[in-house]
Amino acid sequence: MTSIQSDWNQEIVDHFGSDIVKTKEVYVKRMSQDYFWYSPVLKKQLENRYGDCVITPRTEQELTEVITFAVQRRIPIVPRGGATGNYGQIIPLRGGIVLDTTKLNKIIKIESGAGTFQAGVKLGVIERTLRETNQELRFFPSTYMKSTIAGFIAGGTGGIGSIEYGTL
Ligand SMILES: Cc1cc2nc3c(=O)[nH]c(=O)nc-3n(C[C@H](O)[C@H](O)[C@H](O)COP(=O)(O)OP(=O)(O)OC[C@H]3O[C@@H](n4cnc5c(N)ncnc54)[C@H](O)[C@@H]3O)c2cc1C
Repeated sequence: MTSIQSDWNQEIVDHFGSDIVKTKEVYVKRMSQDYFWYSPVLKKQLENRYGDCVITPRTEQELTEVITFAVQRRIPIVPRGGATGNYGQIIPLRGGIVLDTTKLNKIIKIESGAGTFQAGVKLGVIERTLRETNQELRFFPSTYMKSTIAGFIAGGTGGIGSIEYGTL
């Protein structure tokens, strides 16, 4: 089992502040898990694996600083979106930082047939916004109200609309 208390936890809180760094055990444990427990195999392998802290950057600048801090100290990072994956993809295997990217949620640009988004924008928000310009996502997972664009690209495959348009 991974410990929630690491020797760099206090340093990271002092450096980035408790507004974006959370170390409370119950919260860190909750944020270290997705729907891996759907699988009896993964449940056995992955339960009791947690990060040491959760960091939720609010800007790209903060994101860069957190990653730099972690790389310099060789602290593992696991990015996390809506945590709706069901294969344990966000579960830290060696502790470290759970990097919650859901506050990076700006829609940067929507054009005809294309868009630019920050990583943490929810697919449901994208779908709703597209409809204002008479567009829609070609396909999306059934968890689209909670899951993020980055989480879908990094962890998902397809879903509603995929019979017609294929998968990622
Ligand atoms: C009931 C149920 C139904 C589902 N239906 C579908 C479906 O129809 N189709 C489908 O494809 N999936 C489905 N899924 C799986 C999952 O919901 C989707 O893949 C979803 O899009 C994942 O998005 P998320 O934001 O929750 O990602 P997370 O679970 O948070 O993360 C998924 C992966 O993406 C990585 N990641 C997250 N954010 C970032 C980032 N900012 N930068 C780099 N990597 C990042 C994570 O490290 C992880 O590896 C389902 C899951 C459940 C529980």
